[in-house]
Amino acid sequence: MIACPCYVCASKNEKDKRLRSSILVQSQHTTLVVDTTPDFRTQMLRENIRKLDAVVFTHPHKDHIAGLDDVKAFNYFQKKTMDIYANTLTQDSLKREFSYVFADQKYPGIPDITVHTITNEAFMVGDIPVMPILVYHLKMPVLGFRFGSFVYITDANRIDKREKEKIRGSDTIVLNALRKSEHISHFSLQEAVDLVDEMKVPHAYFTHISHQLGTHEEVDSELPPNRQLAWDGLQLDF
Ligand SMILES: [Zn+2]
Ligand SMILES: [Zn+2]
Repeated sequence: MIACPCYVCASKNEKDKRLRSSILVQSQHTTLVVDTTPDFRTQMLRENIRKLDAVVFTHPHKDHIAGLDDVKAFNYFQKKTMDIYANTLTQDSLKREFSYVFADQKYPGIPDITVHTITNEAFMVGDIPVMPILVYHLKMPVLGFRFGSFVYITDANRIDKREKEKIRGSDTIVLNALRKSEHISHFSLQEAVDLVDEMKVPHAYFTHISHQLGTHEEVDSELPPNRQLAWDGLQLDF
């Protein structure tokens, strides 16, 4: 955290250097990212991503959308529009926050996007089947996503029974866990562990971590087997 003198922010362990939460999902023919955080450009450069077909948004909070402008580099090299998948709530924010992208008279060099409306019903991005999972961030509806046996849910603190069932039978989940103490709009670490246990997901990684949670090493050593903290650059194969 900017200007924070705490021991977590001062940690020399690379796993304690956390950018904002996002994932990249790649199949044989399609590459998508979930959210364009303020760190989107840094993340794309770090991972040397040359091809991106789509962005799928979870919710309109700034830490999940702020990097959208930088998709223009992919427009430039791929010579095509960027497909954006978002619910109407997120679309309303994108139109406000990136009004120039939606303007009738567009100036050159700005992002070229094509917006697709999603709900909590299954959809395809290229050859990737996506099952949205409706979760709540205090009162805000947020979309988590299931890709085959992998589930990604961020910015949640409540999931209704029917949507929760969409998690069942998955092999690996990445789930938000902000800190140990409770928070009004994010799962605490214990709440996140309880949820993955309840849904019997064999492997779980926790993300959207605050410096208030502690260091990676400290927290990881306290977690039960097959429950661990995610880290920037983590790659999983299915
Ligand atoms: Zn949020
Ligand atoms: Zn967030």
